[in-house]
Amino acid sequence: MKQGLPVTAAGADSARELLVRLHLKATVSRLQIVRLLAAHAGKMEHVTAEQIYRELQATQMPLGLATIYRTLATLEAHGVVKRQLFARGHSVFELNDRRVHHHMVETDGRAVLEFCDAQIERRLQQLAAAQGYDYIVSELVVYVKSHLPRSEPAAGGAT
Ligand SMILES: [Zn+2]
Repeated sequence: MKQGLPVTAAGADSARELLVRLHLKATVSRLQIVRLLAAHAGKMEHVTAEQIYRELQATQMPLGLATIYRTLATLEAHGVVKRQLFARGHSVFELNDRRVHHHMVETDGRAVLEFCDAQIERRLQQLAAAQGYDYIVSELVVYVKSHLPRSEPAAGGAT
């Protein structure tokens, strides 16, 4: 289990505790989705609603797509989940663990990679300072195209 993050939900009890702490009823659909996102967060993966749907189909408690969208919207409204809408127009979801990170998005695939870079942070601080500002935070989206031959979908792709 990951430690030290303000919002984690790696285990069954963590997901329930997280919802209770936010005064959210721990419904089956909320627990299912928070646990699934927590499992993906451990691998720094972002998932679409359709991926969540497909993954839950394999469990004993599958959820309908409408329920998944509704649950994600509720979790997003309460700051549990973060929705990222990248240029290709598909939303991906991740657990909102308050970790500042940037995203690298493949333009011709669905791979979304996370990265952090102290040099970029320092440079952005300098740029803000030069304009007379204190730098607060940034979330960059970097669009990339793979130069590797396309065979299997990269990490984060559908299985
Ligand atoms: Zn992310």
